Amino acid sequence: MSPLYPDASPDIAELRAWLRKLVEGRFADWPEQMNRHGKFTPEMVQVFAEQGLLGVRIGEQYGGAGMSLRQYCLIQEELARASPILALLTSSTSGLTPMAIERHGTQAQKDRYLRSLTDGRARSCFALTEPEAGSDAASLRTRAESVEGGWRLNGIKHFITLADDCQLMMVMASTDRSKGSRGGITALLVDVPSEGLAVTRVDRTIGTPAWTLGEITFSDVFVPAGNVVGEIGKGFAIAMESLDEGRLNVASLCLGAADSLLARAAAYAKQRRTFGAPLADRQAIQWMLADSATEIAAARGLIYSALDAMEAGRPLGASASMAKLFASEMAFRVADRAVQIHGAMGVVENSPVGAMFRDLRLFRIGEGASEVQRMVIARSVLADT
Ligand SMILES: Cc1cc2nc3c(=O)[nH]c(=O)nc-3n(C[C@H](O)[C@H](O)[C@H](O)COP(=O)(O)OP(=O)(O)OC[C@H]3O[C@@H](n4cnc5c(N)ncnc54)[C@H](O)[C@@H]3O)c2cc1C
Repeated sequence: MSPLYPDASPDIAELRAWLRKLVEGRFADWPEQMNRHGKFTPEMVQVFAEQGLLGVRIGEQYGGAGMSLRQYCLIQEELARASPILALLTSSTSGLTPMAIERHGTQAQKDRYLRSLTDGRARSCFALTEPEAGSDAASLRTRAESVEGGWRLNGIKHFITLADDCQLMMVMASTDRSKGSRGGITALLVDVPSEGLAVTRVDRTIGTPAWTLGEITFSDVFVPAGNVVGEIGKGFAIAMESLDEGRLNVASLCLGAADSLLARAAAYAKQRRTFGAPLADRQAIQWMLADSATEIAAARGLIYSALDAMEAGRPLGASASMAKLFASEMAFRVADRAVQIHGAMGVVENSPVGAMFRDLRLFRIGEGASEVQRMVIARSVLADT
């Protein structure tokens, strides 16, 4: 824990200590198990449900813990110390899609979906990206046409996390091309399975094999009228609001992974001897550790400032982008230094440090690439001057 940012309250410190124990104890070999299975095992889902780590932000009336974004970020940070993939189980039940339902959904949607997310029966995915709409998400082409009783959905989404392991999708679709992202995109809840919905391709990433990205094809999928989240035409705003929080989530898991890499690198440097002395005695190694510790503290500061501002009633926007941009780039630098300190031990196939290095590379792209974060930040700078 950084000397600059002690936990703000006993509650937060207690939550962190409890999570740290779980991550270092019961969950310690889960990343390796996931490498073998390629997915969360039913036992992992059950343990997460028993420990109250599913649907943590969902209201207590639906079986969740009603936690704040700050508490959720802390959970993600601590889970990611073992592997960012562990944090995915919590985010798929408490992140983008669940929070959009909690905030903008109808009572019927909440009754139907939220409890299944908190008790482990369902995981959700968030489907925005398309082959012709990545960074430029507003140019999406997936279309929902109004038909009797609902919508007919056609199109392709790709690079969707958990597409092949979820029971619920929130899909952003164009409902009025003439209006584009300003009133022409609607958020739709789609059950899995649904007639006409197919996961047509699944790619493993360079990270843990369990983090797959799927292509989803919608061919005349019928979506009932009651499955529109929020107002018709307001889907892009819902997506952007969700992504703001998602960026703090990603920043937090980069922070946790980086902090754990620093601890591993320091421990290794103390134990490994070269030329008659521990690596930790060498200034070149100490400087790497010092740079990592400083950058980790800076990332923590950005995340906490964004949370402070949000809790004071200001919108996330650029502050979430700054935290995500800095934390994801910082974590990759910290991972690179950790690999360097481990020498060949850091690059052999089963090296935990090497695995995290590969995992962390994903986060400079997912949830909006670094260049897109810079666009958001620059837009805010220019608007303010
Ligand atoms: C691990 C991971 C998980 C993901 N999960 C999901 C998910 O669950 N749901 C979902 O909808 N999507 C998901 N995505 C997709 C992700 O949102 C997109 O990959 C991302 O938005 C970038 O889009 P793209 O890959 O098409 O890159 P492109 O948009 O083709 O961009 C390619 C590169 O060019 C840069 N670039 C683009 N435009 C500009 C510009 N104007 N100026 C300067 N640089 C530019 C980008 O920053 C990027 O580096 C995930 C991606 C990853 C890697």
